[in-house]
Amino acid sequence: MSLIVYNTLSREKEPFVPLDPGHIRLYVCGPTVYDYVHIGNARPVVAFDVLYRLLKRRYPRVTYVRNITDIDDRIISRAADNKESIAALTGRTGGAYQSDMKRLGALSPDAEPRATEYVSQMIAMIERLIANGHAYAAEGHALFSVPSMADYGRLSRKPRDELIAGARVEVAPYKKDPADFVLWKPSTDAQPGWDSPWGRGRPGWHIECSAMSGALLGETFDIHAGGLDLIFPHHENEIAQSRSAFGHAMMAKYWMHNGFLNISGEKMSKSLGNFFTVHELLDQFPGEAIRLLLLSAHYRQPLDFTHDGLQSAKATLDRWYGALRGKTLSDAPVPDTVEDALSDDINTPLAISALHQLTDPSQLCAGANALGFLQEDPEAWFRWTPAGTSGPTEAEIEAAIAARQAARKAKDFKESDRIRDDLKAKGVILEDGPKGTSWKRG
Ligand code: AMP
Ligand code: ZN
Repeated sequence: MSLIVYNTLSREKEPFVPLDPGHIRLYVCGPTVYDYVHIGNARPVVAFDVLYRLLKRRYPRVTYVRNITDIDDRIISRAADNKESIAALTGRTGGAYQSDMKRLGALSPDAEPRATEYVSQMIAMIERLIANGHAYAAEGHALFSVPSMADYGRLSRKPRDELIAGARVEVAPYKKDPADFVLWKPSTDAQPGWDSPWGRGRPGWHIECSAMSGALLGETFDIHAGGLDLIFPHHENEIAQSRSAFGHAMMAKYWMHNGFLNISGEKMSKSLGNFFTVHELLDQFPGEAIRLLLLSAHYRQPLDFTHDGLQSAKATLDRWYGALRGKTLSDAPVPDTVEDALSDDINTPLAISALHQLTDPSQLCAGANALGFLQEDPEAWFRWTPAGTSGPTEAEIEAAIAARQAARKAKDFKESDRIRDDLKAKGVILEDGPKGTSWKRG
């Protein structure tokens, strides 16, 4: 089945027709790293990782770019609070983000640019916008001129008064129009800054993604994605900048947006304080269980986060890994039921229910892999323990199993049963099978 995606630009599901079938280009807006990211921030990463995997199965070449925003006022103030440099803070938080996303089973993107590495491209883009009349300099700032673009607002479809109110753009004396937005702003001596034609300063947020996507994917590309909250103003403004600078009728052909991860019906966010970081959850649950929870609802639907949801995701994976245990798996194609569900606008809940119907372990494994599940060795999966678990270590368990094996060989069944019961009392369950003894924590 050919791929169909919901395009926020048209508000419709459309067949995916690449700009160049020989090379698919995908951009996903990444987080601002001033601390550990929350599990809501992981939703676009995991949802669009399933899309990336699908595109890689279908097309010879896919370039996936997912940026890291490492310059922002929240970063500046957090670094000051911590009495550390911005580079030290974002080096640490950016690294933690990357390793946490890997633990959720997300493939590494082909490029993961940090905004601070692309400041010269941002400056060049702003110069181009000023030269062609879409931007102007004023009092150390550079601003995009919204009235210079006839069809500004096409993505968010907001009327002009709502555009201004919704953007919460400051009414500043240097603005020619209240809807104009900042491309460049001045920095004080205490703030980080780069030299520019408008004085020492730093970029606005929107220009970062226009410059990085332009540099790494080209002036137009196939898919641009991120969370629903980015439609306006972030993506609207990215479109305005890229189209006006490069002179094309489109920036990206398809715009895809994930719904919110909620907690008790409210959007999870740092500002509301109702969040769990991926980092802390990974102490309590394996990455694939968190991933399964995130993919259990369709990416455009809201999804309520609960610890019970994580428990039941873990139980499902226990069942799937149990089905693979001790089996020799042959290579199998992704089953049609799974592939067809994913082809329909990445319908992961339907794909997951198709996985539940599969009885052949090789097919289950192939189907699950398409969604980024069952990537681990089953034995390793069952050995996973939450942080702070007491009980015997892996080495102690292996030693006890070897001792029990020796006792059985010597026909000392009393001793072998004693070892098994002793492990059971410590929460470790042994299972004897044709390939020897395996164990799991119960
Ligand atoms: P931010 O660091 O706020 O720019 O967020 C990074 C990414 O996470 C963006 O694509 C946001 O749209 C997305 N995001 C933030 N909060 C949530 C949430 N509660 N649910 C789903 N996506 C979110
Ligand atoms: Zn962006």
